[in-house]
Amino acid sequence: MLGGIETGGTWTVCARGTADGTILDRTEFPTTTPARTLERIAHFFREDGELPSAVGVGAFGPLDLALGSPRYGSVMVTPKPGWSGAAIATQLAELLGIPVAIDTDVAAAGLAEQRLGSGRGASSIAYLTVGTGIGAGLLSDGRPWHGLIHPEVGHIRIPHDLQRDPFEGACPLHGDCWEGLASGVALAERWGVDPAELPPGHPAWELEAFYLAAGLLAIVSVASPHRIVIGGGVMRSEGLLQLVRAELDRLNAGYLSAEELSRLDTYLVPAALGDDAGVRGALLLAASECLRT
Ligand SMILES: [Zn+2]
Repeated sequence: MLGGIETGGTWTVCARGTADGTILDRTEFPTTTPARTLERIAHFFREDGELPSAVGVGAFGPLDLALGSPRYGSVMVTPKPGWSGAAIATQLAELLGIPVAIDTDVAAAGLAEQRLGSGRGASSIAYLTVGTGIGAGLLSDGRPWHGLIHPEVGHIRIPHDLQRDPFEGACPLHGDCWEGLASGVALAERWGVDPAELPPGHPAWELEAFYLAAGLLAIVSVASPHRIVIGGGVMRSEGLLQLVRAELDRLNAGYLSAEELSRLDTYLVPAALGDDAGVRGALLLAASECLRT
């Protein structure tokens, strides 16, 4: 029996489950301070049932994932108060006394989508979530891509036509980066309403489709994934995915001519696992040998 943990910006989810990503029991609570949150995680696994043999963590980042780093598995500099430098992996290993595997929340969710969801059968995928923020996990043969740290695609730069869209962007660091222009927060700030209240056909969605497609074209051009799986609250808007496919086709202009890209309805697909993707991916991380601390 294994443990899976997703520490999200707002909620933390803990689950016991199996190496194939099946959840047996779970709990969730608000993400507060690092000390309080890690304590509640440890309490769930130590006090409320059988202690798992290992746990996997999908954590909001950025994370130090450089093997051999003294801060491996710690949060790097983050705007979330109190979390910069939080040593999630080390402290959980100490609190629980079991091996801990860690990656980003989006890498964990992407891993679950590749093994169990909409990415099945594709040897590499990009998993993108468009919600409060924009994040992506790049998976190749079931392993999350790591470099210096890990991809942070939410902060790439995309074209911003200030005549068409004078909104300066919502990213506290960069203003009009991808997340700053196309996240749920950006939509809410630009249009002054909750994105869920913007009806299909509203000009917001045409602009949003352009921005999402522009970022997706960058991902396709750099990483060349076999499939893109896209989820998150913003993507629940009716008709948005079809608009994004059309924009991606237009912006690509026939250049990347792999057969898959000519069939965008099977190349750019909706996520299948919903809110459980992160914690199921964390169970899969726990089952992997390669990422253990
Ligand atoms: Zn940014």
